[in-house]
Amino acid sequence: MTLLGAAQIRELAAALDLKPSKSLGQNFVIDSNVCTKIVRTAAVGPTDVALEIGPGLGSLTLALLESAESVIAVEIDPRLAQQLPLTVADLFEHPEKLTVINKDALAIHTLPKDPTVLVANLPYNVSVPVLLHLLEVFPTLRTGVVMVQAEVADRLAAKPGTKDYGIPSVKAAWWADVKGAGSVSRSVFWPAPNVDSKLVGFTRRPTPGDEELRKKVFTIIDAAFAQRRKMLRSALSTLYGSSSAAEEILIRAKIDPTLRGEALEIDGFCAIAAVAPDIF
Ligand code: SAM
Repeated sequence: MTLLGAAQIRELAAALDLKPSKSLGQNFVIDSNVCTKIVRTAAVGPTDVALEIGPGLGSLTLALLESAESVIAVEIDPRLAQQLPLTVADLFEHPEKLTVINKDALAIHTLPKDPTVLVANLPYNVSVPVLLHLLEVFPTLRTGVVMVQAEVADRLAAKPGTKDYGIPSVKAAWWADVKGAGSVSRSVFWPAPNVDSKLVGFTRRPTPGDEELRKKVFTIIDAAFAQRRKMLRSALSTLYGSSSAAEEILIRAKIDPTLRGEALEIDGFCAIAAVAPDIF
């Protein structure tokens, strides 16, 4: 099948009179080799129901349709959501494999089919909340590869004790093992973004606890990194009333109270939550 190249992307945009929106992160991939590579990196196979967020003009969607059993594409921009089935019907002999949903990805809680793999060139300003939201609401998502701003990719895949380690790294680690999966040149986009991009791959892992524990853990993570230079006993003092109360909780959790949040893996935050009082 024909994948979309630079000329087709520009033609489609011109026909729609589309001026790419910065606030919606509309930077379209114009190099079909990149799309093929992303689908291959995600190891999408014939039994996969692929979920794509922000299909845009369809570059990645077409590559996904070639490999997946079916594709569910969630697009916030109504012009793009309306055009996509028409583009696919023109270029692909099984357009029924595609379902397009015109919605904000953050407002999606159910889908017509359980997705197994997430493959997306995510809108950069909401990439972390979208990824965490999807991991939370679609437990059938087993693996995925997403393209995000390079700094965000580094943060998502960061390990404790590094400068990039922070809220996105620990929260993503609740759901999945996350790894960097390569860089993508600015020149493959139209319009070219003013930031670099990277791919991030994830594989779901069993969660360390139930929803009640997760909410507690995420509140502690937010507090620990709100003042990342502070020791945990001080960073958690607002949550627990005083630094001595926080220190007592940390000692019970067998965590050194003088450590900073950036030293702890997700399991350390879970240990704190397990002995901490309910704060809701
Ligand atoms: N996948 C296309 C590609 O690679 O050429 C377009 C990727 S572009 C970086 C991001 C896309 O996400 C745009 O089509 C934009 O309209 C869409 N988008 C932005 N915010 C969204 C949201 N909250 N939910 C769903 N789609 C969104």
